[in-house]
Amino acid sequence: ATRALTERREKSLGGSYRLFYRRPVHLVRGEGQYLWDASGRRYLDMYNNVASLGHCHPAVVEAVTRQASTLNTHTRYLHETILDYTDDLLTTLPAELDRAMYMCTGSEANDLALRVAKFVTGGDGVIVTREAYHGTSELTSSVSPALGSGQPIAPTARLVDAPDAYRVDTPDLGAWFAQRVSDAIDDMERAGTRFAGLLVDSLFSSDGVLPGPAGYLREAADVVHRAGGVVIADEVQPGFARTGEAFWGFARHGIVPDVVTMGKPMGNGIPVSGLVARTEVLDAFSDRIPYFNTFGGNPVSMAAARAVLDTIRSEGLQEHSAAIGAELLTALRGLATRHEAIGDVRGAGLFVGLELVSDRTALTPDRALALDVLEELRERGVLTSVAGPHGNVLKLRPPLAFASADIAWVTTALDEALTVLTS
Ligand code: PMP
Repeated sequence: ATRALTERREKSLGGSYRLFYRRPVHLVRGEGQYLWDASGRRYLDMYNNVASLGHCHPAVVEAVTRQASTLNTHTRYLHETILDYTDDLLTTLPAELDRAMYMCTGSEANDLALRVAKFVTGGDGVIVTREAYHGTSELTSSVSPALGSGQPIAPTARLVDAPDAYRVDTPDLGAWFAQRVSDAIDDMERAGTRFAGLLVDSLFSSDGVLPGPAGYLREAADVVHRAGGVVIADEVQPGFARTGEAFWGFARHGIVPDVVTMGKPMGNGIPVSGLVARTEVLDAFSDRIPYFNTFGGNPVSMAAARAVLDTIRSEGLQEHSAAIGAELLTALRGLATRHEAIGDVRGAGLFVGLELVSDRTALTPDRALALDVLEELRERGVLTSVAGPHGNVLKLRPPLAFASADIAWVTTALDEALTVLTS
Protein backbone atom coordinates (compact mmCIF):
# COMPACT_ATOMS: atom_id res chain seq x y z
CA ALA A 1 0.00 0.00 0.00
CA THR A 2 2.90 2.36 0.80
CA ARG A 3 4.44 1.65 -2.61
CA ALA A 4 1.14 2.42 -4.39
CA LEU A 5 0.84 5.72 -2.51
CA THR A 6 4.45 6.63 -3.27
CA GLU A 7 3.89 5.96 -6.97
CA ARG A 8 0.68 7.97 -6.95
CA ARG A 9 2.57 10.80 -5.29
CA GLU A 10 5.39 10.74 -7.82
CA LYS A 11 2.90 10.79 -10.66
CA SER A 12 1.08 13.87 -9.45
CA LEU A 13 3.69 15.77 -7.40
CA GLY A 14 6.86 14.89 -9.30
CA GLY A 15 10.27 15.16 -7.72
CA SER A 16 9.68 18.08 -5.38
CA TYR A 17 8.82 17.60 -1.71
CA ARG A 18 11.26 14.74 -1.28
CA LEU A 19 10.12 12.16 1.27
CA PHE A 20 12.06 11.11 4.34
CA TYR A 21 13.30 7.49 4.40
CA ARG A 22 13.98 4.90 1.71
CA ARG A 23 10.70 3.26 2.73
CA PRO A 24 8.47 6.25 3.45
CA VAL A 25 6.38 6.37 6.62
CA HIS A 26 2.65 6.62 5.88
CA LEU A 27 1.22 8.61 8.77
CA VAL A 28 -2.42 8.70 9.72
CA ARG A 29 -2.58 10.21 13.21
CA GLY A 30 -0.65 12.26 15.74
CA GLU A 31 -1.01 12.95 19.45
CA GLY A 32 1.51 14.58 21.76
CA GLN A 33 5.02 13.55 20.75
CA TYR A 34 3.76 10.42 18.98
CA LEU A 35 2.70 9.59 15.45
CA TRP A 36 0.91 6.50 14.13
CA ASP A 37 1.27 4.91 10.71
CA ALA A 38 -1.40 3.18 8.66
CA SER A 39 -0.60 -0.20 10.22
CA GLY A 40 -1.21 1.19 13.72
CA ARG A 41 2.46 1.38 14.65
CA ARG A 42 3.44 4.17 17.05
CA TYR A 43 6.49 6.37 16.45
CA LEU A 44 8.30 8.87 18.61
CA ASP A 45 8.61 12.16 16.74
CA MET A 46 12.13 13.45 17.41
CA TYR A 47 12.19 15.89 14.55
CA ASN A 48 9.22 18.16 14.73
CA ASN A 49 9.39 21.72 15.96
CA VAL A 50 6.14 22.55 14.17
CA ALA A 51 3.81 20.57 16.42
CA SER A 52 5.82 22.03 19.25
CA LEU A 53 3.13 21.66 21.94
CA GLY A 54 2.45 18.14 20.72
CA HIS A 55 0.53 16.91 17.70
CA CYS A 56 -3.14 17.94 17.56
CA HIS A 57 -2.88 19.72 20.91
CA PRO A 58 -6.45 20.12 22.25
CA ALA A 59 -5.97 23.83 23.11
CA VAL A 60 -5.09 24.62 19.50
CA VAL A 61 -7.78 22.35 18.05
CA GLU A 62 -10.36 24.01 20.27
CA ALA A 63 -9.21 27.58 19.48
CA VAL A 64 -9.15 26.92 15.74
CA THR A 65 -12.53 25.22 15.76
CA ARG A 66 -14.12 28.02 17.73
CA GLN A 67 -12.65 30.78 15.56
CA ALA A 68 -13.28 28.98 12.26
CA SER A 69 -16.94 28.65 13.13
CA THR A 70 -17.21 32.34 14.12
CA LEU A 71 -15.20 34.47 11.70
CA ASN A 72 -12.30 34.16 9.32
CA THR A 73 -11.30 37.06 7.10
CA HIS A 74 -8.24 39.01 6.07
CA THR A 75 -6.39 41.81 7.78
CA ARG A 76 -7.92 44.72 5.87
CA TYR A 77 -11.00 44.63 8.06
CA LEU A 78 -10.82 45.45 11.72
CA HIS A 79 -10.83 42.40 13.94
CA GLU A 80 -9.54 41.89 17.43
CA THR A 81 -7.82 38.52 17.24
CA ILE A 82 -4.74 40.04 15.56
CA LEU A 83 -4.50 42.78 18.18
CA ASP A 84 -4.97 40.40 21.11
CA TYR A 85 -2.30 38.14 19.74
CA THR A 86 0.13 40.97 19.07
CA ASP A 87 -0.23 42.34 22.60
CA ASP A 88 0.57 38.88 23.91
CA LEU A 89 3.45 38.20 21.50
CA LEU A 90 5.16 41.51 22.22
CA THR A 91 5.34 40.69 25.94
CA THR A 92 7.76 37.87 25.03
CA LEU A 93 10.12 40.25 23.17
CA PRO A 94 12.44 43.09 24.21
CA ALA A 95 10.58 46.41 24.56
CA GLU A 96 12.43 47.94 21.59
CA LEU A 97 10.75 45.43 19.29
CA ASP A 98 7.23 46.71 19.11
CA ARG A 99 5.92 46.44 15.58
CA ALA A 100 4.53 43.17 14.26
CA MET A 101 3.43 41.90 10.85
CA TYR A 102 2.07 38.50 9.87
CA MET A 103 2.43 36.12 6.97
CA CYS A 104 1.96 32.38 6.49
CA THR A 105 5.46 30.92 6.15
CA GLY A 106 8.97 31.45 7.45
CA SER A 107 10.08 32.17 3.89
CA GLU A 108 7.70 35.09 3.59
CA ALA A 109 8.84 36.47 6.95
CA ASN A 110 12.51 36.30 5.93
CA ASP A 111 11.74 37.65 2.50
CA LEU A 112 10.13 40.73 4.02
CA ALA A 113 12.93 41.04 6.59
CA LEU A 114 15.49 41.17 3.79
CA ARG A 115 13.45 43.73 1.87
CA VAL A 116 13.19 45.87 5.00
CA ALA A 117 16.92 45.59 5.73
CA LYS A 118 17.79 46.55 2.17
CA PHE A 119 15.33 49.41 2.16
CA VAL A 120 16.41 51.02 5.42
CA THR A 121 20.15 50.67 4.80
CA GLY A 122 20.13 51.37 1.06
CA GLY A 123 22.43 48.35 0.88
CA ASP A 124 22.24 45.04 -0.90
CA GLY A 125 24.86 42.94 0.86
CA VAL A 126 23.60 40.22 3.20
CA ILE A 127 25.70 37.91 5.36
CA VAL A 128 24.54 34.39 6.19
CA THR A 129 26.29 31.28 7.45
CA ARG A 130 27.76 28.73 5.08
CA GLU A 131 25.01 26.09 5.43
CA ALA A 132 22.13 28.43 6.22
CA TYR A 133 18.56 27.85 5.11
CA HIS A 134 16.23 30.83 5.14
CA GLY A 135 13.46 30.04 2.68
CA THR A 136 11.95 29.24 -0.68
CA SER A 137 11.34 32.63 -2.29
CA GLU A 138 13.73 34.00 -4.93
CA LEU A 139 15.29 36.37 -2.39
CA THR A 140 15.53 33.97 0.55
CA SER A 141 16.77 31.03 -1.54
CA SER A 142 19.51 33.32 -2.88
CA VAL A 143 20.87 33.40 0.68
CA SER A 144 20.21 29.70 1.44
CA PRO A 145 23.40 27.77 0.61
CA ALA A 146 21.89 24.68 2.28
CA LEU A 147 19.92 24.20 -0.95
CA GLY A 148 23.13 22.96 -2.57
CA SER A 149 25.26 23.75 -5.57
CA GLY A 150 22.29 24.02 -7.94
CA GLN A 151 21.02 27.10 -6.09
CA PRO A 152 22.81 30.31 -7.10
CA ILE A 153 23.79 32.51 -4.16
CA ALA A 154 23.32 36.26 -4.63
CA PRO A 155 26.62 37.76 -5.82
CA THR A 156 26.18 40.51 -3.23
CA ALA A 157 25.83 37.99 -0.38
CA ARG A 158 28.74 36.67 1.69
CA LEU A 159 28.86 33.30 3.44
CA VAL A 160 30.66 32.99 6.76
CA ASP A 161 31.58 29.83 8.67
CA ALA A 162 29.20 29.09 11.52
CA PRO A 163 30.70 29.15 15.02
CA ASP A 164 31.18 25.43 15.59
CA ALA A 165 32.58 24.87 19.09
CA TYR A 166 33.34 21.21 18.26
CA ARG A 167 35.46 21.89 15.19
CA VAL A 168 36.84 25.37 15.70
CA ASP A 169 39.75 25.50 18.08
CA THR A 170 39.53 28.90 19.75
CA PRO A 171 39.22 30.11 23.32
CA ASP A 172 36.81 32.87 22.23
CA LEU A 173 34.12 31.77 19.80
CA GLY A 174 32.39 35.17 20.00
CA ALA A 175 35.49 37.04 18.81
CA TRP A 176 36.13 34.35 16.20
CA PHE A 177 32.66 34.70 14.68
CA ALA A 178 32.66 38.50 14.92
CA GLN A 179 35.96 38.58 13.01
CA ARG A 180 34.44 36.54 10.19
CA VAL A 181 31.45 38.85 10.00
CA SER A 182 33.74 41.87 10.02
CA ASP A 183 35.91 40.41 7.23
CA ALA A 184 32.80 39.66 5.15
CA ILE A 185 31.61 43.26 5.51
CA ASP A 186 35.04 44.55 4.43
CA ASP A 187 35.07 42.15 1.52
CA MET A 188 31.67 43.17 0.19
CA GLU A 189 32.44 46.86 0.60
CA ARG A 190 35.70 46.44 -1.31
CA ALA A 191 33.60 44.94 -4.10
CA GLY A 192 31.40 48.04 -4.08
CA THR A 193 28.41 46.43 -2.31
CA ARG A 194 26.81 48.33 0.53
CA PHE A 195 26.20 46.21 3.64
CA ALA A 196 22.54 45.61 4.53
CA GLY A 197 22.69 43.12 7.37
CA LEU A 198 23.32 39.77 8.98
CA LEU A 199 20.57 37.14 8.75
CA VAL A 200 21.26 34.55 11.41
CA ASP A 201 19.62 31.56 13.09
CA SER A 202 21.06 31.71 16.61
CA LEU A 203 21.00 27.90 16.91
CA PHE A 204 22.61 27.45 13.48
CA SER A 205 20.16 24.62 12.82
CA SER A 206 21.08 23.71 9.26
CA ASP A 207 24.77 24.40 9.96
CA GLY A 208 24.63 21.35 12.24
CA VAL A 209 22.83 22.49 15.42
CA LEU A 210 25.44 24.68 17.11
CA PRO A 211 24.09 26.18 20.31
CA GLY A 212 27.53 27.22 21.53
CA PRO A 213 27.94 29.08 24.78
CA ALA A 214 25.21 31.61 25.53
CA GLY A 215 26.27 35.18 24.80
CA TYR A 216 28.77 34.60 22.02
CA LEU A 217 26.70 36.33 19.31
CA ARG A 218 26.98 39.68 21.06
CA GLU A 219 30.22 40.73 19.45
CA ALA A 220 29.03 39.90 15.93
CA ALA A 221 25.84 41.92 16.53
CA ASP A 222 27.98 44.87 17.63
CA VAL A 223 30.10 44.61 14.49
CA VAL A 224 26.95 44.64 12.33
CA HIS A 225 25.52 47.68 14.08
CA ARG A 226 28.79 49.61 13.94
CA ALA A 227 28.88 48.99 10.18
CA GLY A 228 25.34 50.40 9.83
CA GLY A 229 23.72 47.03 9.14
CA VAL A 230 20.59 45.36 10.44
CA VAL A 231 20.61 42.21 12.60
CA ILE A 232 17.84 39.83 11.56
CA ALA A 233 17.26 36.92 13.94
CA ASP A 234 15.66 33.99 12.10
CA GLU A 235 13.74 32.34 14.93
CA VAL A 236 11.89 29.85 12.75
CA GLN A 237 13.72 26.97 14.42
CA PRO A 238 14.94 28.15 17.86
CA GLY A 239 11.94 30.30 18.78
CA PHE A 240 8.95 29.68 21.06
CA ALA A 241 10.70 28.23 24.14
CA ARG A 242 12.57 25.50 22.28
CA THR A 243 15.96 26.30 23.83
CA GLY A 244 14.64 26.25 27.39
CA GLU A 245 17.04 28.91 28.57
CA ALA A 246 15.07 31.64 26.84
CA PHE A 247 11.83 32.06 24.93
CA TRP A 248 13.78 33.22 21.85
CA GLY A 249 17.10 31.84 20.63
CA PHE A 250 18.66 35.30 20.29
CA ALA A 251 17.79 36.08 23.92
CA ARG A 252 20.34 33.44 25.01
CA HIS A 253 22.93 35.84 23.68
CA GLY A 254 21.58 38.95 25.36
CA ILE A 255 21.26 40.72 22.02
CA VAL A 256 18.39 42.80 20.69
CA PRO A 257 18.03 42.22 16.95
CA ASP A 258 16.48 44.87 14.72
CA VAL A 259 14.18 42.37 13.08
CA VAL A 260 12.95 38.97 14.32
CA THR A 261 11.29 36.44 12.04
CA MET A 262 9.25 33.49 13.26
CA GLY A 263 7.17 30.63 11.88
CA LYS A 264 6.99 26.83 12.22
CA PRO A 265 5.88 26.30 15.88
CA MET A 266 4.02 29.61 15.99
CA GLY A 267 0.64 28.00 15.17
CA ASN A 268 1.50 24.42 16.17
CA GLY A 269 0.81 23.31 12.59
CA ILE A 270 -1.59 26.02 11.46
CA PRO A 271 0.34 28.07 8.86
CA VAL A 272 1.25 31.37 10.47
CA SER A 273 4.47 33.36 10.55
CA GLY A 274 5.51 36.77 11.72
CA LEU A 275 8.01 39.55 11.67
CA VAL A 276 8.63 41.80 14.65
CA ALA A 277 10.94 44.81 14.40
CA ARG A 278 12.08 48.00 15.99
CA THR A 279 9.53 50.74 15.34
CA GLU A 280 11.86 53.02 13.41
CA VAL A 281 13.05 50.19 11.19
CA LEU A 282 9.65 48.82 10.22
CA ASP A 283 7.92 52.19 10.01
CA ALA A 284 10.56 53.53 7.62
CA PHE A 285 9.59 50.68 5.29
CA SER A 286 5.84 50.52 5.90
CA ASP A 287 5.37 54.26 5.45
CA ARG A 288 6.67 53.99 1.91
CA ILE A 289 5.86 50.48 0.69
CA PRO A 290 2.47 48.81 1.05
CA TYR A 291 2.47 45.21 2.19
CA PHE A 292 -0.50 42.95 1.86
CA ASN A 293 -0.74 39.26 2.60
CA THR A 294 -4.19 37.75 2.09
CA PHE A 295 -3.97 35.08 4.77
CA GLY A 296 -1.41 36.78 7.01
CA GLY A 297 -2.79 37.44 10.48
CA ASN A 298 -6.20 35.93 9.72
CA PRO A 299 -8.38 35.32 12.78
CA VAL A 300 -8.06 31.53 12.67
CA SER A 301 -4.26 31.54 12.53
CA MET A 302 -4.13 34.24 15.22
CA ALA A 303 -6.39 32.14 17.44
CA ALA A 304 -4.10 29.15 16.96
CA ALA A 305 -1.02 31.27 17.69
CA ARG A 306 -2.61 32.66 20.83
CA ALA A 307 -3.43 29.16 22.07
CA VAL A 308 0.25 28.29 21.51
CA LEU A 309 1.48 31.14 23.72
CA ASP A 310 -1.14 30.34 26.37
CA THR A 311 -0.18 26.68 26.42
CA ILE A 312 3.57 27.32 26.59
CA ARG A 313 2.84 29.31 29.75
CA SER A 314 0.12 27.14 31.30
CA GLU A 315 2.06 23.91 30.76
CA GLY A 316 5.40 25.48 31.75
CA LEU A 317 6.93 24.26 28.49
CA GLN A 318 9.96 26.54 28.53
CA GLU A 319 11.03 25.27 31.96
CA HIS A 320 10.18 21.73 30.87
CA SER A 321 12.29 22.11 27.73
CA ALA A 322 15.27 23.25 29.83
CA ALA A 323 14.93 20.41 32.36
CA ILE A 324 14.13 17.53 30.04
CA GLY A 325 16.63 18.79 27.45
CA ALA A 326 19.39 18.63 30.07
CA GLU A 327 18.27 15.09 30.97
CA LEU A 328 18.38 14.07 27.31
CA LEU A 329 21.88 15.53 26.89
CA THR A 330 23.13 13.63 29.93
CA ALA A 331 21.65 10.37 28.66
CA LEU A 332 23.16 10.83 25.19
CA ARG A 333 26.55 11.75 26.66
CA GLY A 334 26.33 8.53 28.65
CA LEU A 335 25.93 6.66 25.37
CA ALA A 336 28.94 8.49 23.96
CA THR A 337 31.16 6.87 26.58
CA ARG A 338 30.32 3.49 25.02
CA HIS A 339 30.14 4.39 21.34
CA GLU A 340 33.26 5.77 19.69
CA ALA A 341 31.16 6.90 16.74
CA ILE A 342 29.50 9.63 18.79
CA GLY A 343 31.91 12.53 18.40
CA ASP A 344 29.89 15.25 20.04
CA VAL A 345 26.55 15.79 21.79
CA ARG A 346 25.38 19.38 22.15
CA GLY A 347 22.15 21.19 22.69
CA ALA A 348 20.06 23.91 24.23
CA GLY A 349 16.78 22.73 25.73
CA LEU A 350 15.01 20.34 23.38
CA PHE A 351 17.23 21.15 20.43
CA VAL A 352 20.03 18.63 20.36
CA GLY A 353 22.68 17.74 17.79
CA LEU A 354 24.53 14.43 17.92
CA GLU A 355 27.54 14.26 15.64
CA LEU A 356 28.70 10.94 14.20
CA VAL A 357 32.36 10.50 13.28
CA SER A 358 34.56 7.69 11.99
CA ASP A 359 37.58 9.00 13.91
CA ARG A 360 37.19 10.83 17.19
CA THR A 361 40.64 12.40 17.09
CA ALA A 362 40.49 13.64 13.50
CA LEU A 363 36.73 14.43 13.90
CA THR A 364 36.08 12.77 10.53
CA PRO A 365 32.37 13.16 9.72
CA ASP A 366 30.55 9.89 9.05
CA ARG A 367 27.61 10.69 6.83
CA ALA A 368 27.09 7.10 5.69
CA LEU A 369 26.77 5.97 9.30
CA ALA A 370 24.36 8.83 10.07
CA LEU A 371 22.09 7.79 7.19
CA ASP A 372 22.18 4.15 8.32
CA VAL A 373 21.45 5.22 11.91
CA LEU A 374 18.37 7.10 10.68
CA GLU A 375 17.05 3.89 9.10
CA GLU A 376 17.84 1.79 12.18
CA LEU A 377 16.15 4.35 14.44
CA ARG A 378 13.12 4.29 12.23
CA GLU A 379 13.00 0.48 12.58
CA ARG A 380 12.84 1.14 16.33
CA GLY A 381 10.08 3.71 15.97
CA VAL A 382 12.17 6.85 16.32
CA LEU A 383 11.78 9.45 13.57
CA THR A 384 14.43 12.10 13.02
CA SER A 385 16.78 13.53 10.40
CA VAL A 386 20.30 14.86 9.80
CA ALA A 387 21.80 18.32 9.41
CA GLY A 388 25.12 20.07 8.97
CA PRO A 389 27.60 20.64 6.15
CA HIS A 390 28.60 16.95 6.19
CA GLY A 391 25.10 15.57 6.86
CA ASN A 392 26.40 13.62 9.86
CA VAL A 393 24.61 15.43 12.70
CA LEU A 394 21.44 13.80 14.02
CA LYS A 395 18.98 16.57 14.67
CA LEU A 396 16.88 15.80 17.76
CA ARG A 397 14.11 18.31 18.17
CA PRO A 398 10.95 16.65 19.51
CA PRO A 399 7.67 18.31 20.46
CA LEU A 400 8.06 20.04 23.83
CA ALA A 401 5.71 17.44 25.33
CA PHE A 402 8.71 15.07 25.23
CA ALA A 403 8.92 13.16 28.53
CA SER A 404 11.43 11.17 30.60
CA ALA A 405 10.06 7.85 29.29
CA ASP A 406 10.84 9.01 25.77
CA ILE A 407 14.50 9.50 26.68
CA ALA A 408 14.73 5.78 27.38
CA TRP A 409 13.12 5.03 24.01
CA VAL A 410 15.58 7.22 22.09
CA THR A 411 18.71 6.15 23.92
CA THR A 412 17.90 2.43 23.73
CA ALA A 413 17.13 2.76 20.02
CA LEU A 414 20.35 4.67 19.39
CA ASP A 415 22.39 2.27 21.49
CA GLU A 416 21.03 -0.69 19.50
CA ALA A 417 21.44 1.09 16.17
CA LEU A 418 25.08 1.94 16.83
CA THR A 419 25.78 -1.56 18.15
CA VAL A 420 24.28 -3.14 15.03
CA LEU A 421 26.12 -0.79 12.69
CA THR A 422 29.54 -0.42 14.26
CA SER A 423 30.42 -3.68 15.98
N1 PMP B 1 14.26 29.76 8.28
C1 PMP B 1 14.66 28.62 8.86
C2 PMP B 1 15.77 28.66 9.87
C3 PMP B 1 14.03 27.42 8.54
O1 PMP B 1 14.43 26.29 9.12
C4 PMP B 1 12.98 27.41 7.59
C5 PMP B 1 12.25 26.13 7.21
N2 PMP B 1 12.97 24.96 7.34
C6 PMP B 1 12.60 28.62 7.02
C7 PMP B 1 13.25 29.77 7.39
C8 PMP B 1 11.50 28.70 5.99
O2 PMP B 1 10.27 28.47 6.57
P1 PMP B 1 9.04 27.96 5.69
O3 PMP B 1 9.36 26.59 5.22
O4 PMP B 1 7.87 28.03 6.63
O5 PMP B 1 8.87 28.91 4.56
